[in-house]
Amino acid sequence: MLLEIDGIRKSYKDFSLEASFSVEEGEFISILGPSGCGKSTLLALIAGLEKPDAGRVVLDGKEITGMEIQKRGIGIVFQSYALFENMSVGKNITYAMDKKKSGKEKKEGMLALLALVGLKGYEKRNVSSLSGGEAQRVALARSLAAEPRMLLLDEPLSALDAPMRRRLRGKIRDIHDRLGITIIHVTHDREEAYAVSDRMIVMNAGKIEGIGRAEEMYKRPDTPFLASFLGEGTFLSKKSVSEGDGYYFFRPESVLISENEGTDAGSTYLVLKNAKVMGIEFQGSSYSVKLNYNGEMVTALSNTRPRKEYVNLMIMRNFLNIF
Ligand code: ADP
Ligand code: MG
Repeated sequence: MLLEIDGIRKSYKDFSLEASFSVEEGEFISILGPSGCGKSTLLALIAGLEKPDAGRVVLDGKEITGMEIQKRGIGIVFQSYALFENMSVGKNITYAMDKKKSGKEKKEGMLALLALVGLKGYEKRNVSSLSGGEAQRVALARSLAAEPRMLLLDEPLSALDAPMRRRLRGKIRDIHDRLGITIIHVTHDREEAYAVSDRMIVMNAGKIEGIGRAEEMYKRPDTPFLASFLGEGTFLSKKSVSEGDGYYFFRPESVLISENEGTDAGSTYLVLKNAKVMGIEFQGSSYSVKLNYNGEMVTALSNTRPRKEYVNLMIMRNFLNIF
């Protein structure tokens, strides 16, 4: 285990955070949660930018809770690029390197890092001439130049437009895989977390709501918050199908729309008869269909446009989550 966060606590006037988790060497962890849930605070506690009220931070088996930031060997990249404006791209990177390195070592290292982030030939460029995506890649190269034990990324792509965000998240994952470096990445964008991470830590209001692999958490959310935060879906009261108290939760893609009259229930499927189609949204590769079943709204994802006003819905019981 590379990093252990053991019962860490931090309180501000109207907010308190509490967390325990560990990170394996070489893992790519995404901390995902809505704005204001405490993601940046947690990262700041790991980096040493903030001091916890209680708890321990252990890196490589050594407690670093009170250690100065510079001594931790942890790199951090923020949403804003924070490059040195009066230095070239190359200088920004070599500046972060170990002072004991020779000029030649630094230059070779810098060129290799620029190639790694996909900015070959940019070393002489002025920082102010870079686009947002380029600047963020320089920031990444600069943080790697210090050869950190671990890299923290706080919403590194938030300031970029959608296509650049998608390209760069692939690049970051690629850099992780090539270097084998441990990364903790903070984002409020679930698709970004799904795309890059080995495991996700989902936070809500200062607490960890769940930890696990994205696919597993999406398909089998442990709590109603995880169910709704990790994607679309329907909470259907079990009463509406005369199956007791509580709720079923299922994803839109788990719902089959059947336009046959006599849909047979069997035991494999939960069948919702005579659901009324309320709205159909064309989404390119599929249709998002909103339906009314006994006064409850159900969302289904369909490859074809339903033609009838009343349809039957079939949900494989395997795909039902129970709350
Ligand atoms: P996130 O990064 O998930 O959006 P933050 O960790 O930045 O959330 O903030 C969590 C909460 O803590 C917010 O309510 C924020 O206002 C509060 N907070 C963060 N830093 C401070 C601070 N230095 N002083 C007081 N409150 C703070
Ligand atoms: Mg933040």
